[in-house]
Amino acid sequence: MKKIGIMTSGGDAPGMNAAIRAVARRAMSFGIEVYGINYGYAGLVAGDIFKMERSTVGDIINRGGTILYSARYPEFAQEEGQLKGIEQLKKFGIDALVVIGGDGSYHGALRLTEHGYNAVGLPGTIDNDIPYTDFTIGFDTAVNTVVESIDKIRDTAASHERTFVVEVMGRGAGDIALWAGVAGGADEIIVPEREFNVEQVAKNIQNLRARGKKHTIVVLAEGVMHADEFMNQLKQYGDFDARSTVLGHVQRGGSPSARDRVLASKMGAYAVDLLNEGKGGIAIGMEANELTYHNMTDLFSSKHKADLSLYDINKTLAK
Ligand code: ADP
Repeated sequence: MKKIGIMTSGGDAPGMNAAIRAVARRAMSFGIEVYGINYGYAGLVAGDIFKMERSTVGDIINRGGTILYSARYPEFAQEEGQLKGIEQLKKFGIDALVVIGGDGSYHGALRLTEHGYNAVGLPGTIDNDIPYTDFTIGFDTAVNTVVESIDKIRDTAASHERTFVVEVMGRGAGDIALWAGVAGGADEIIVPEREFNVEQVAKNIQNLRARGKKHTIVVLAEGVMHADEFMNQLKQYGDFDARSTVLGHVQRGGSPSARDRVLASKMGAYAVDLLNEGKGGIAIGMEANELTYHNMTDLFSSKHKADLSLYDINKTLAK
């Protein structure tokens, strides 16, 4: 293999830059030329492609976002877009591609492999919603950002004896809520993976108040409902002086945590090794602390499982 391409696609996540750096530098260590593709599949089709040097990826390991930018480009689901992309890859003589992104980006990578261009996927998303990996690149940083925010909300909640409903990201997955909820000492964690009953939540808050704990923190996954809606439902069962906070896109930014940088570095280097062995149509994971890979088709037929033991543990810790 002489030339390798790299792109970031879909939602950005802290640690994507560390992954770009790892892919580029590992490939260069084998004498492979590295090409950066800007704006995901949109840039691939448009030919927004440039040769990277070791220095291109200097000073980025600590930076959030992605130096290769990201874009949504639904046209890549059509064969016409895929063939245009392949034309560009041929033009630049790129033999194989590393795609850092989520499930949607993996579909694009698989299409390329089916057309004869090996592509390997790295899980880059704060949501942690990819099967066959315990953690995705960006999740740990996002959880730390949420925990920092919960700590701050706790201060004001305690001072005013209020109930706060804190909405966190995660799309359909409750991982951020579960991890940040346990780490932030939340009184209630509400996730899409578990049934809940607002009246019961209200009763729990009342019980806490009766025992002298006058402030409450409810961590709500965005996949359940909006924080305002939850708060309004809660108000029907009592006056908790409730407030809602939507943390929003701060969760996607910031300098990646050490864990995310290490995860990205390991996965990025492994992706290059696998492409060098002629593999494609696969996605990389970290399972039980071991690097693994699986066919993308296996990922599409499986569902990510959140660690619901955290939910159960929190039920006993929040009392
Ligand atoms: P994520 O990768 O975070 O899941 P998206 O679902 O938005 O984000 O997908 C990112 C990009 O991947 C899309 O904008 C599109 O260019 C490409 N993509 C998504 N689904 C497909 C598909 N079924 N076939 C080919 N390309 C796809």
